[in-house]
Amino acid sequence: MRPTTEIDVRAHYDEIVRIVERYALPMEAIEIVPSIQGWCHERGLSEDDRFRIARIFRNIETGRYVILFAERMSHAMVGAVISALEERGFESEVNLLSNARAVVRHLTLHEIAHGLDKSRSEYECDRWAFDQLGAAAQGVR
Ligand SMILES: [Zn+2]
Repeated sequence: MRPTTEIDVRAHYDEIVRIVERYALPMEAIEIVPSIQGWCHERGLSEDDRFRIARIFRNIETGRYVILFAERMSHAMVGAVISALEERGFESEVNLLSNARAVVRHLTLHEIAHGLDKSRSEYECDRWAFDQLGAAAQGVR
């Protein structure tokens, strides 16, 4: 019940844009990069996780947001994300993440959740993302 191959995030770029456009988040850019850690370190930003797959930033000068995605998500990276979700109590919800598109949608929604309310915890961002995914699955938009 989980994607069995590496995810090529560029193949989902249009879908990411469509999701982001649904929410009132002032955007600067959606960037798909070889390494989020590399991107951060080049800009003097800290990032401890070399396998980070997505991250949102607010540009303090413009007040707009940048969402970064790793261009390739290996099977192991996706597995780690799904295991983390299961550990946070989303054992049944992870069944929604049965294909690459759903994984990318959930990730995108999770980062949007941080952007819309930076006080949200990881658990709250995952909860919100699953709620949005479930609503979309039922045709509610
Ligand atoms: Zn997060």
